[in-house]
Amino acid sequence: MTKKQRALEVIQRLKEEYPDADCTLDYDQAWKLLVSVRLAAQCTDARVNVVVEDLYAKYPDVASLAAAQPEEIEAIVKPCGLGKSKARDISACMRILHEQYEDRIPETFEELLKLPGVGRKSANLIMGDVFGKPAIVTDTHCIRLTNRIGLVDNIKEPKKVEMALWKIIPPEEGSDFCHRLVFHGREVCTARTKPHCDRCCLEDICKKNI
Ligand code: SF4
Repeated sequence: MTKKQRALEVIQRLKEEYPDADCTLDYDQAWKLLVSVRLAAQCTDARVNVVVEDLYAKYPDVASLAAAQPEEIEAIVKPCGLGKSKARDISACMRILHEQYEDRIPETFEELLKLPGVGRKSANLIMGDVFGKPAIVTDTHCIRLTNRIGLVDNIKEPKKVEMALWKIIPPEEGSDFCHRLVFHGREVCTARTKPHCDRCCLEDICKKNI
């Protein structure tokens, strides 16, 4: 079985297992996903979803968040950890959206990457979820699972994993595939306990590089 054949089979099986898998960060406007994805670094999505409720109660739009002082943002987002740097990035980012993009988010990968605190993982997430474009989101679940399954060979660096996956994942499948890896990584192929291979839908095709 080639990597590509394995990838297509994994995609198909995860589709059947998690038909509705979606982004686990809550947002109803694109700029809010930008904020949440910055807050999600080294924090759970569940906690981010709670903290942003307070943030948006006080700053309901890009303009008000852009006008806030970083210290005011930090006071609210502190429970997500790394409060100072996250608040600084969110503030700088919202000011750029307000001043250069009429309170909207840029639509190209390159422009997104230039925003403070936005790396390839976040830019890919936004391209896939907001704009419906091809995207590979190499978060911790994606990196762990694609190595274990044998879709990549002992690659841990996110950008290298992303580049390797672009070669074997059909572009239009990438975004949903990565969301499904998150679900599978949380429920079955877990990080902190032994993976539950005995109840895994990929058991017979996984290389189990554990
Ligand atoms: S078979 Fe085991 S190692 Fe492979 S994906 Fe499933 S749980 Fe993870």
